[in-house]
Amino acid sequence: REFNDAGLHPAMLQNVKLCKYEFPTPIQAYCIPAVLTGHDVVAVAQTGSGKTAAFLIPILSKLMGKARQLAAPRPNPGRYNAATDRVRAEPLVLVVCPTRELACQIFDEARRLCYRTMLRPAVIYGGAPSRNQREQLEMGCDILIATPGRLMDFMQNPKLLSLARLKFTVIDEADELLSAGWEEAMEKIFQGGDVNGDADHTYLMFSATFPKSARRLAKDYMEEDTIKIK
Ligand code: AMP
Repeated sequence: REFNDAGLHPAMLQNVKLCKYEFPTPIQAYCIPAVLTGHDVVAVAQTGSGKTAAFLIPILSKLMGKARQLAAPRPNPGRYNAATDRVRAEPLVLVVCPTRELACQIFDEARRLCYRTMLRPAVIYGGAPSRNQREQLEMGCDILIATPGRLMDFMQNPKLLSLARLKFTVIDEADELLSAGWEEAMEKIFQGGDVNGDADHTYLMFSATFPKSARRLAKDYMEEDTIKIK
């Protein structure tokens, strides 16, 4: 199989080429069509399998098709005045993962796959001062990559961050998040997508293992026709 056959947006095909990805990895071959056709996805995935691109490619490709209608509020980047022009971040995509390193890797890949499009990724994580991250959100963003603690902090401030426009929620390394004690936060994040009353909200969950707590989350929040990839 090739990326060309997948029905991706031309701008995405171009960026996949710039990343020098020639052929989809197995998880990409399963996940890309599943997301393009609107399914929730649960996938057993290890680091190195190409799982990041497996969710970013189809999600961003879908958004590229509607970037103009969907584009989040943002200041004019040409003459941005931080004192007066800041906006609230209202991302369309939320990716939650357990560590700063992983968040930054996902952000890097998102930046490459958003190249020359209107889509703007941002990353927030703990263990670093929040000022720069807050300033990033004030510039507006479409794709938010976050570790859970910092996400919960910023979610306290609805003038800074609103999840009301989310269309896609991705939980990466769910087993790590759950075993690190973020079960309640995960629950809150999943409920967020439902509270919007958005029937076509897409959930994706990636994990190396599926402990009971991860299976329960998937069962409670994900659609019956969720596609499972092993
Ligand atoms: P991940 O499993 O998401 O951490 O990805 C592992 C590495 O594989 C990353 O450095 C990606 O840039 C790279 N990668 C992802 N998809 C492909 C592909 N289709 N072909 C070649 N390399 C890829």
